[in-house]
Amino acid sequence: MPELPEVETVRRQMLPLMTDSTITGIEVFHAKTVAYDSGIEDALVGLTIQSIDRIGKLLIVSFLDHPDQFLLIHLKMTGQILFTDKNKRISGGGHTLTATDVSDLPHKHTRVSFTLHTGVTIYFNDMRLFGYCKRANARETECIRATFGPEPHSPDFDPITFAKKLRRRKTPIKAALLDQTLIAGLGNIYVDEVLFRVGVRPTRRADRVLKREALAIAQAASEILTAAIAVGGTTFQHFTDTGGQAGNYTDYLKVFGQQGTPCPECGRIIEKTRVAGRGTHYCPDCQR
Ligand SMILES: [Zn+2]
Repeated sequence: MPELPEVETVRRQMLPLMTDSTITGIEVFHAKTVAYDSGIEDALVGLTIQSIDRIGKLLIVSFLDHPDQFLLIHLKMTGQILFTDKNKRISGGGHTLTATDVSDLPHKHTRVSFTLHTGVTIYFNDMRLFGYCKRANARETECIRATFGPEPHSPDFDPITFAKKLRRRKTPIKAALLDQTLIAGLGNIYVDEVLFRVGVRPTRRADRVLKREALAIAQAASEILTAAIAVGGTTFQHFTDTGGQAGNYTDYLKVFGQQGTPCPECGRIIEKTRVAGRGTHYCPDCQR
């Protein structure tokens, strides 16, 4: 599942390819992806993309001279965004890509495509159909923004407030950190990595976390997300034709997916359990 660093990586790819470009065509291959919006083509063709913003894992496309029109894009579990430029070069990211994902676009998992006046085509692929590309007005977009807490690497993040709120929760610390209203941007992979770095076991109740541990969590979250974005996340791949190259945070993962292998700090075997319904990885020695 794409997490924040993967979505941010896609956003950074989209910006130069889409900003100031005019949409010349939209093809909907599956109506669910556009929330059964039969008017999407009439509404968006002819509009020029102003910017692409992101809050948590949600991408928000805004349009020049149309302040009440937005396009919200969420990759959910299996979404991918791919681009072909006028030279037919393909790039993109999101859910882990394989060679078949990028051949013969559009293909059976392509749900909607957007053509721009520059010759670039954007394909939204989504095998499981949980993702979406849907229109929203300014009020709806604001309401959605308001449901996200601050991201740990953003300037408006206050570690003291975060620590206070976190230490009032009675759920396991992992569940609290997955709650996007408390802190936006941490998904399953990165929560496990953050908790390993600070030595807190994912099953410990949030109200049993010390203040200094909570502050360390905020710091680690910021550092780990920043580092993951810098290398393009864990699932990002860049394709030119079909030759793929993985730019990758996977090499840096210390506990996620490492069950059964020795802890890089102490040598004890990493264990896997379930917390908040999610596969959870930790070192029984380093994390208490
Ligand atoms: Zn250890």
